[in-house]
Amino acid sequence: MQRNPGRIDRFIFYKEGNRPQRLVFLFMAIGLFMLALWFLFPDDTPDDRDAVDAMSVNPFDPYIGYASLVPEETASADYVEGWILPYKGFEDSLLAVPGMTLANVLEIANGIRDQVDFSKFYAGEALRVWFDENGKVTRFVYRPNIVTYHTLIRSEKTGRLEYSFTRYPTEMRRRIIAGEMQGTLNASLAQRSEVTTWIRQAVNNALEGMISFNTDARNGDTYRILVEEEFYKGRRIPGGRVLFASYTGKIAGHRETFWYEEDDPKSAYNAHYTVDGKALASSGLRLPVDRIHITSTFGFRIHPITGQRHLHNGVDYGGRMGEPVYAVAAGRVVSAGMDGASGNKLIIRHIDGTETYYLHLNSFATRAGSVVKGGQIVARLGSTGRSTGPHLHFGIKRQGKWENPLRIKMIAAPVLTGDRFERFKREMRTIRGLLEKTAEKG
Ligand SMILES: [Zn+2]
Repeated sequence: MQRNPGRIDRFIFYKEGNRPQRLVFLFMAIGLFMLALWFLFPDDTPDDRDAVDAMSVNPFDPYIGYASLVPEETASADYVEGWILPYKGFEDSLLAVPGMTLANVLEIANGIRDQVDFSKFYAGEALRVWFDENGKVTRFVYRPNIVTYHTLIRSEKTGRLEYSFTRYPTEMRRRIIAGEMQGTLNASLAQRSEVTTWIRQAVNNALEGMISFNTDARNGDTYRILVEEEFYKGRRIPGGRVLFASYTGKIAGHRETFWYEEDDPKSAYNAHYTVDGKALASSGLRLPVDRIHITSTFGFRIHPITGQRHLHNGVDYGGRMGEPVYAVAAGRVVSAGMDGASGNKLIIRHIDGTETYYLHLNSFATRAGSVVKGGQIVARLGSTGRSTGPHLHFGIKRQGKWENPLRIKMIAAPVLTGDRFERFKREMRTIRGLLEKTAEKG
């Protein structure tokens, strides 16, 4: 099964942080890039994973430059190599590959958009492109890690780039990380070499929804975390899951959170919940769709149809025609109608004056002037207006300015109910069993 790394898996570059920190990481990134190049060119053997394993190029265990160090099996070696660049999206990273034209970029991006979530690219991930003598792409590989390959190959029959997916089998390992708070939780975890950046962020995100760290955390409080990670030939694959996290404190008391996941790895319900099935994210906003597959992120990008660079003022969620579209919060429908390139467009104004936009809809389930509740179905997903396929363009405008919806924690449900809660209880029992089986380390 393809693992869903989760949004949390974004590398630190994409995290909002203070400037000096980002600068430090930028320099580290550049340094590692140079290292990666240095390792690649002296000895670019077609396939020698074990030799690469011994290189140990990661001084502080980030994943940058990691995937690009291991050459995959290739049809031929006459490719051009590229990487996902820090602060750049997929299209811009691709455009930086020598020999790449804008037309090539659009063809590749549109060829993988339905399979690859465009909010989940990390700096340092590997790209490889094969060109024919006319500069046309014959083959393309995007490799987010050493076991995963998204491949496009030009079909002789159709003349188009056809997508295929390969993933090597991995070994799943679980471990418990337990310890005592000294300073902040983040600092306590950062001291431990076995705790990756990814796990630290995942744990922080899971626990900050339950504990008010500013006021309730004390030195000597204890934490216990069960993580699940994948390994290939002894090497950790970036990402993983925090199945369980608990915190016991003098003031905070004892708190526990469990991971819940449905069969669909992209379900919007996949998240951490408390024992009572309560979600931890507290923005109170409902995701506008039930399934999270982002085909385009917020910010400057190359438009998939026009090829022009412009500000994409929302997020595109790929989906199936007719899937429900939800109001993210209560409000009043300002307008619902056809609007040129936006297609069927719905605008809701919320209590604080914020407006949310829903574009390319197939149909409306409400009309202008209506009052709607958060989580109410207001429309059906479609592909009206200027659109490459069924998707929802979702935008948030606050005080006249567009905001990045991915910066806001939206959830599918504040509390799991019915069949979902029953399933969650079963999953909790399984996780408790795993906790007992997994030997404690530190
Ligand atoms: Zn859009």
